[in-house]
Amino acid sequence: MKRDRLAKGGPVHAALERIITECDVEGEIERDPVRAVHRYEDPLDAELVALMASAVAFGNVTTLVRKLDDALERLGPSPAKTADDPAAVQRALRGWKHRVYVAADLAGLVIGARRVQRVHGSMGRLFGAALARTDSVREALAELVDAVREGGLEKSASRGARHVLPDPRGTSGCKRLLLFLRWMVRGPDGCDLGLWREHVPTAKLLVPVDVHIHKLARNLGLTDRATPSITTTEEITEALRRFDPEDPVRFDFALCHMGMLQACPSRKDAKRCEGCPVRGVCRHWA
Ligand code: SF4
Repeated sequence: MKRDRLAKGGPVHAALERIITECDVEGEIERDPVRAVHRYEDPLDAELVALMASAVAFGNVTTLVRKLDDALERLGPSPAKTADDPAAVQRALRGWKHRVYVAADLAGLVIGARRVQRVHGSMGRLFGAALARTDSVREALAELVDAVREGGLEKSASRGARHVLPDPRGTSGCKRLLLFLRWMVRGPDGCDLGLWREHVPTAKLLVPVDVHIHKLARNLGLTDRATPSITTTEEITEALRRFDPEDPVRFDFALCHMGMLQACPSRKDAKRCEGCPVRGVCRHWA
């Protein structure tokens, strides 16, 4: 009988473990927005900066890291302390811009997140309490998003204000929010920070899925769904859960930094697939 390729210990699992083993985490972090989060010792600063970093994590990585560094420079050594004065945040970020975001969008995010920290002790506490009550990562994320919006973005109807925090109750895959969650819950392991580990079990995490991870997941047979959405995210996570039920998202960083990810095509392509470390289990080649 043909061995289930998606079984624990099967060929796809083995290929993903190999990618984790070969990943140069330290080197790759230099090109990842999480790099900025590691500069902050105070957990409240780190939590706030992680939310900012995940919010801008789309598009060209060099540009987004530069824009993030610029915003953080403006907010001073402790963004959480600066955010205790909303007018100071608005002044500091005046003129800042990144793709669909204008300064008011990022300022609203920072001010709203800081307000949650002051009311609940940390964003992690609010999230953990909501998760314990609802047993739903999506609902807990939605409650966090509602609280941050209420504190800083509720008056803005701009495109950037809508995009900076997507609605976890909708169909969006919420890639950036799930990335924030991964950074906060997993670890500490040199990449993810583990600041919320006491509030949230890693088994509950969902894998952050962008267009590239979606395409790769289809090519590995982790999902057949044609479009990225929260259902696709749940399906891919479920497949990864077979390999590691306690920590299905631990494959994410290595996959994101696989090198081939940006080039991964939707069909067999000898040139673009050359040197791909998962070619042996890709359904176009296996
Ligand atoms: S072999 Fe090609 S199509 Fe398959 S996962 Fe690798 S890059 Fe993508």
